[in-house]
Amino acid sequence: MIIEVRCLICGQVVNHKWLPFIEFQKQGMSPHEALNKVDAKRPCCRSTLLTHVNLIDTKLRNAQIREDERTVSATEQAEPNPRPPRRRSTPRTYQAR
Ligand SMILES: [Zn+2]
Repeated sequence: MIIEVRCLICGQVVNHKWLPFIEFQKQGMSPHEALNKVDAKRPCCRSTLLTHVNLIDTKLRNAQIREDERTVSATEQAEPNPRPPRRRSTPRTYQAR
C-alpha cells in the first residue's frame, strides 16, 4: 500500500528513498543503479524498495469510481421513475402428477 517507514528487517529508515528511487527509474536508470544512487546498501533495505507495490493510487482511483457511482445512483433516485412498479408474480402452487 504505502512504503514502510522503516525496513522490516534492520529498522533503517527507507521511506524517504522511495520517491527518488522511482524518479531515477523513470529517468532510465536500472533498479540496481537507482538503489545505489539512493544509498540503499543493505540487501534487506534493497529488497524492501524493490518489492514494494504502490497500491495507494489504485485504491484512490477505485474509491473515486465508487464515489462517482454513488453520486450517479443518488441522482437517479431523485428523478421520478417512468416505469410503473413491477407486479409480483403469483406464487406457484404444487401440482401433484
Ligand atoms: Zn534493511
